[in-house]
Amino acid sequence: MDCLMISSRVAAFVDGELESCECERFVLHIETCDPCTQIVIQIEAQRFSPLSADQRRSICERGAFWGEMDTELNGHLDALVVAPVGPWHRRRVGLPVPMVVAYAAAILLAVVWGVQQQERAQLAELASEHLGQQLEKERRLAAQPGVITPPVSGDGSYKVVTYAPERASF
Ligand SMILES: [Zn+2]
Repeated sequence: MDCLMISSRVAAFVDGELESCECERFVLHIETCDPCTQIVIQIEAQRFSPLSADQRRSICERGAFWGEMDTELNGHLDALVVAPVGPWHRRRVGLPVPMVVAYAAAILLAVVWGVQQQERAQLAELASEHLGQQLEKERRLAAQPGVITPPVSGDGSYKVVTYAPERASF
């Protein structure tokens, strides 16, 4: 048994709930390990008395028990969200206000940055698509300069088309 195991089983040991072989290994370890002995001594010093089966039943099987647990838990969660007034170190539960604000700001920044990146990516995609179309047009013009028939307008007359490529850096 190692120190990690000891710390996770110490409560069961103090309550006398370890199986005999596990208990033996537990004792073997703490006999040779001073830090673990100290942990056991500290836990024992708190004099927890394990609940009897009857006590457990009367406390945990009360109809209101889980409702009360919920209320208690929600109270703690509310305290995390709505930070009460006063210096943060005096509060039992809760993050200091500046930290909550910083978290919120960080999340907001991350979201805004993500949206901007997405917009930029879409713009870049559009631009490269446009460039690709222009290049394709130019390639066709260069390959078959004689075959191109200018577009004909409604009255049958030829329409002069001037092609002026945009200034671009490619
Ligand atoms: Zn140990």
